[in-house]
This record gives sequence, structure tokens and C-alpha cells, in this order.
Amino acid sequence: MHINLRNAADKSGQGRAHQVMVSTVMGTFSGKVVVVTGAGRGIGAEMARSFAAQGAKVAVISRSESSCGAAADQINAEFPDSAKAYAVDVADYAAVQDLGKQVIADLGAVNVLVNNAGITRDGLLMRMKDEDWSDVLDTNLKGAFNTVKAFMRSMMKAEDPRIINISSVIGLIGNAGQSNYAASKAGLIGFTKSVARELAGRAVTCNAIAPGFITTDMTDELNEETKNAILEKIPLKTFGTTADITALTLFLAGKESRYITGQVIASDGGMTM
Ligand code: NDP
Repeated sequence: MHINLRNAADKSGQGRAHQVMVSTVMGTFSGKVVVVTGAGRGIGAEMARSFAAQGAKVAVISRSESSCGAAADQINAEFPDSAKAYAVDVADYAAVQDLGKQVIADLGAVNVLVNNAGITRDGLLMRMKDEDWSDVLDTNLKGAFNTVKAFMRSMMKAEDPRIINISSVIGLIGNAGQSNYAASKAGLIGFTKSVARELAGRAVTCNAIAPGFITTDMTDELNEETKNAILEKIPLKTFGTTADITALTLFLAGKESRYITGQVIASDGGMTM
């Protein structure tokens, strides 16, 4: 819903009326600013939409302009003026620091940062190229360092500040053919715990989520045989959905989770119990 406020006097003081659009989507995150990386598709897109549905202003970040632009347009069609798109490579330290300044200037101090951007470059070690290793580590792990550096000062002054890092069960148990990805996601867990300890004094919480197999573009790349083999290892005998990870993220971002920090919470159908 929108309301139009009629302002009696403009900056010139000549009494010319103009209209100010005020978003009045009410919800748990009303008045909050949320940054979601990797929000152009998959899990991140669903998170961004759900935060907006709950009243937040959301910075929708992805690598390509078309992806974050389309995701933000879709959110704004449902919840007007709630999403702003930013195309940036999270692995690029300087670009992410500039992004930080821009987001804060556009939307205000950040309350919630979700580090969700991630890639895979799978292959057995024997065949893994140098750039397969560094691309994955730079995006999945250094990307989180870059964004925390960009937003932490602003978050220390914000209400209920929360950092949520999207790791993976692969970071907990490893996987043949994913040594780069496993290292990045395990690294993200160590990073999460250290950030949680460093920022606890400023009431910033930092937690990690370890999703199991979630149906998205990332997992659609796998063939049926591999998918069936994975299903065998899931006690609940079903793949997870973007909604499962989004629900947990919104819980960790909300007031109810204020006493939880430095934790890794798996949402994996029982895979790692
Ligand atoms: P998708 O491949 O569907 O989407 C990934 C998103 O990340 C895209 O929007 C992409 O941007 C963005 N992205 C990738 N690299 C960069 C970069 N360098 N800079 C900025 N944005 C980038 O992934 P999922 O939704 O499946 O996964 C989201 C997160 O969840 C990842 O961290 C993944 O590792 C993790 N995860 C996923 C699981 C699954 O089963 N799907 C399981 C466990 C963890 P663009 O759209 O522009 O390409």
C-alpha cells in the first residue's frame, strides 16, 4: 500500500505542493535495510522478495545487471519502492567498498547483511585448474570478507544488526569433486565464528546456514543419476526448497534470534545429523 503525503512547502519555501511516496508495507522488517548478495536468482532472490514482503528496503545484488535488475523489478511490482538493484562482483574488494557507500547513501544504515552469492567449479583435484580454485574461493569466501568490510561500520550503529553467511553442508562434510567449494564453505564457517566474536561487543550477531540440496539453477546442472544418489543420503527423502532456507534466514535476521551468534545451522533434511 502507498500513501501520498502532500508537503505544504517545498525547499524554496514558496508553498508549492509536491507528493512524497512513502512505502507502508508493514511487517517484521519495516524500517530495516537488508543487503542480499546473489539475489538475482535462486535462494537469494526468494530471500530478497521475502524481506521486502515483510517491509524491508532491500539491496538486491548480483553479478549481472540483467539478473539483479529483473529480480528487483519483480519485487517492486509486488512491493513498490522496496528493492534496488546493484550489479557488482563480490570478489572485487574495491568495487564492493564503493557499493557499500552507494547502498548506505541510497537506503541508509544496513541492519541485515546476507552473504549468499556463491558459485561452483566442480572437478576432481587431478583436473582442477588454478582458476577453478581461486574463482570459487574469491567469490564464496573473500566475497563475504569484502561485504562485511563494506558494511560493518554502518551496521554497528544500526538496530538489531545481523550478518548471515550462506555456507553449505559440503563445508561440513566435504565432497569428492568439490574441494574448492568445500574449502570456501568451511572457510566461511571459520569466518562466521571469528566475526561473531569480534562484533559481539557491538551487538552484531553473525551466523551461518548450511543448506543441504536445494532445488535451484545451481543444482539443476546435476544429472538425474547424481540427484538420485544424493536423495538416497537424505533421511527426509526430499530436496530442500528456496523457501526452507529463506525461512531460516528471516528467523536469524529477526529480533527473536538475538541470543544466537557464531552458530552454523544446517537445513538439510537430516543429511549431516
Ligand atoms: P544460483 O546459482 O541459483 O544463484 C547464484 C547467485 O549468486 C546469482 O544471482 C549470481 O549472480 C550470484 N553471484 C555469483 N557469483 C557472484 C559474484 N561474483 N558477485 C555477485 N554475485 C554473484 O545459486 P543458489 O541460489 O543455488 O545458491 C545460493 C547460495 O546457497 C550459494 O552460496 C550456494 O553455494 C549456497 N548453497 C546452495 C545449495 C543448493 O543446493 N542450491 C546448497 C548449499 C549451499 P547472477 O544472477 O548475476 O549470475
